[in-house]
Amino acid sequence: MKGFCEKCRDYVPVKTQTTEATKTIKGVNIEYNKKVAHCEYCNEEVFIADLRDENLKVLENAYRKKENIISVDDIEKILIDYNIGKRPLSKLLGWGDVTLSRYLNGDIPSKAYSNILNKLKEDPSYMLEFLESNGDSIKEIAYSKCLEATKKQIEQRKILESNGNDKINIVTKYILMKSKDITPLALQKLLYYTQSFYVAFYNKFIFSDDCEAWIHGPVYSNVYHKYKNFGYSFIECKEDFINTDLSTDEINIIEVVVNSFGCYSGKVLEAMTHSERPWQLTRSGLKENAPSNKIIEKSLIKEYYDKIIKKYTMINVIDIRDYCEDLFKKVC
Ligand SMILES: [Zn+2]
Repeated sequence: MKGFCEKCRDYVPVKTQTTEATKTIKGVNIEYNKKVAHCEYCNEEVFIADLRDENLKVLENAYRKKENIISVDDIEKILIDYNIGKRPLSKLLGWGDVTLSRYLNGDIPSKAYSNILNKLKEDPSYMLEFLESNGDSIKEIAYSKCLEATKKQIEQRKILESNGNDKINIVTKYILMKSKDITPLALQKLLYYTQSFYVAFYNKFIFSDDCEAWIHGPVYSNVYHKYKNFGYSFIECKEDFINTDLSTDEINIIEVVVNSFGCYSGKVLEAMTHSERPWQLTRSGLKENAPSNKIIEKSLIKEYYDKIIKKYTMINVIDIRDYCEDLFKKVC
C-alpha cells in the first residue's frame, strides 16, 4: 500500500497497524479498532482514503452492534419476505417516502425506527397490524401482494414451530450440511461456538436454547437426544436442507465456526471448551466425572466471548480462526 507522506513530500510505502479508538455517534461512545498507516521512511501518519472508508465501516458496524440497530441485509430481507417495495413500506409505516431508501443506502436508522424494523423482521403478525390499520396508505396492488406474503410468513412460522423446527434445529441442520464427518460430540461444540461468537459479534443470541455443563463440555440437550443414537460415529444426515431462515450474518458465523473448529475431533473440541471459563465456572465445585445439567448462563457466555473478540482485536468474523488456532495449541 502506498500513500502521500506530507513530511517526505512523496508517495511512499506505508505500514498499517490497528489501534483502539473511541468515537461518539449520536451521543453514544463507541470503541472500535481503527487502522492507521505510517510512512515506512519517517513514520509520519499518512492519510489513505481506502483505510478511512474501511474504518468508517468498522465504526458503523460497532455502533449498530452496540445499539442493536438493524443491518442493511436484514432490511432487504424484510422487503423480500413481505413482498413489498421500499417506498410502499415506508408509507405503510407512516414514514417519509424515502426513509427506507436512505437506510438501504447506508444511513443509520434511529433506535426507535430500528426497533420497529427489528420487530417486523421477527414477527409477521406485527406487519399484519400495519396492513390492517394503515393499508389504505398504499396502492391496492401493493397491499394485496404484501398481505398475501405476510399471511404466508405467519403460516410458515406456525409450521416451523409445530415441527419443532425451531432455530437451533435450523442451525444444526446447516452445520450438518456444511460438515463432512461430524460426531454428536463435535456437533455440540460447533453449536456452542456458533452461539458464543454470534452473540459476541452481533450482541444477540442466534437461538434461545441454553446449554448445560456436562462432563464432556457444553451440551444442548434437545439436540443431544435427537442424535445420540450415532454415539461416537459420524452423523448421517439424509434430509435435504434448503436454508430459507438464516440471515447472512448467521450464515457467516456458522461457516467460519465450521471451517475453523470443524476440522478438529470431538475430543479436541471437548478439551477446548474445558479450557474456557464459562464451562469451568459453571462446574466449579464439581468432581471431574460428576454428571451435571447446570445451565451455562447466557450472560457468562456473552461476557466471556465479548472479552475474547476484544483480546484478539477481531474485526471480521473470519478472525475467529486466530482464536481457534491458539486454543488448539493450548490444549494439544
Ligand atoms: Zn515520510
